[in-house]
Amino acid sequence: MTNDIKINRVERSKIDQLDFDNIPLGRAFTDHMFICDYEDGEWKNARIEPMGMIPMHPAAMSLHYGQAIFEGLKATLNKEGEPLLFRPEQNARRLNFSARRMGMPEVPEELVLEALDILIDMESQWIPREEGSALYIRPYMFADEGFIGMRAATSYKFMIICSPAGPFFSKPIKLYAETEFIRAAVGGTGEAKAAGNYAAAILPTEKAKRKGYDQVLWLDAKEFKYVQEVGTMNIFFKINGKFITPALDGAILEGITRSSVITLLKDKGYEVEERRINIEDIIASAKDGSLEEAFGTGTAVAIAMIEEIGYKDERIKISDKHEVGQWVMDTLNGIKSQKIEDPYGWMRPV
Ligand code: PMP
Repeated sequence: MTNDIKINRVERSKIDQLDFDNIPLGRAFTDHMFICDYEDGEWKNARIEPMGMIPMHPAAMSLHYGQAIFEGLKATLNKEGEPLLFRPEQNARRLNFSARRMGMPEVPEELVLEALDILIDMESQWIPREEGSALYIRPYMFADEGFIGMRAATSYKFMIICSPAGPFFSKPIKLYAETEFIRAAVGGTGEAKAAGNYAAAILPTEKAKRKGYDQVLWLDAKEFKYVQEVGTMNIFFKINGKFITPALDGAILEGITRSSVITLLKDKGYEVEERRINIEDIIASAKDGSLEEAFGTGTAVAIAMIEEIGYKDERIKISDKHEVGQWVMDTLNGIKSQKIEDPYGWMRPV
């Protein structure tokens, strides 16, 4: 298709209804949304419309068989007040990786990027100015064919909605290493950003919260021994001056923050090893003092410091030190607001 995106603007913006000093996380949406239909083997009817309800067939296949994937990225403002996107081509690439795993059609990368450019340009007034805040952007695709029967759907929608998010101060988090439930198994859908992965995580996360933890530390599906991810973040440990993060084993989502953090740490002179990490070794290093820092990485909060891990019947203190974690956080936020130079070309002006 030619990316001929039709635009239907709202008559009146609802931006004056939002208190930018008090943004309700995940509940405020901008004026417009992007929609594109996949029918007869092609993407068509790309359009930007006023944000609103969409009619759906009650047998829409995503509701029954779960062909639904999504992405998450952020727009920030530079010093001149111009909108910037953080590595959007990586999200477009991962969206299509997820699409292939879930038997869904790919969306041409240039369509994803053009839709983002036009929509974010239209919604740039909605990007909060305060350092650490951003406009959260949610591209997603789902099967909307009305059909009962187990096969790949023939029609889909690809959409993008945006939600402003205030500065997110994540206090250090406590993790519960889960030894009963799993998030994903090798061969499953863990390395795709598929909606069902999140559904599978909800009950264990609720249970961990009831025990006084913030997030689940996911272990591998076979032996409940190797660290995978934390909540919806990747994880890094600093042991004896060196960083380690779980190698992508086929069940782990390849975070865009993860790859950015690996680059930042290596360029700062740290050794970063991607390998299998045994939870028992982490516990042992926490106890003997060689575990210096631990943090999670993801688009939502950038960096979340880890202060405690619950494993079997023990609660193990991880670290009060977050020196490098804080540096990574400040560097990422600085690059996003262009207060720090972006030597990697990560920021894309819209
Ligand atoms: N793991 C999971 C399961 C996630 O949902 C996310 C958030 N997308 C991440 C890791 C971190 O990925 P990113 O850095 O691209 O946000």
